[in-house]
Amino acid sequence: MPEKKHDPERFNSPEYLAVLGDSLTSQVTIFNKNAFDQMQAIAAEGYPNEVCGLLLGCIDTQGWQVHEVRQVNNINTERAAERFQLDPAGYQAIDRDIRGSQLEIIGVFHSHPDCPSKPSPTDLESAWEGFLYPIVSVYNAQVADVLCWAPNEVSKKFHPVHVRKAPL
Ligand SMILES: [Zn+2]
Repeated sequence: MPEKKHDPERFNSPEYLAVLGDSLTSQVTIFNKNAFDQMQAIAAEGYPNEVCGLLLGCIDTQGWQVHEVRQVNNINTERAAERFQLDPAGYQAIDRDIRGSQLEIIGVFHSHPDCPSKPSPTDLESAWEGFLYPIVSVYNAQVADVLCWAPNEVSKKFHPVHVRKAPL
């Protein structure tokens, strides 16, 4: 038997459950359908490693509108199967690229290989309030599901965000 790389059981531990909020956020996400499909394809291709990227779009009082996704290198090569760290150079290149356009960076997506699409305590540590965090669960290189989360500084939890796919 090959050594098991991922440990999905940890998602049932009290420490992990503590970062999950039950209540949906009042804001919603409208996700461009092509961008949503592209995000899933990036996650499946990256398996068995965690892959990550940025969401480009707009934010208003209603919530997030995701127009595009762009992959960014995961520079955590030591623990690439279970951690991600966005390459700052990749982030800056995208930031420069969209300057002057209507788009802004509004969130960060990443994959959870052989694990559920729930955020971890580590995900919470690196999360920014106001950003949207989709997590793509990938089992055996197939996308199982995608959930979107928003961190809340007051509750110190991620709350689920309702997603609608649309041709933006
Ligand atoms: Zn994660």
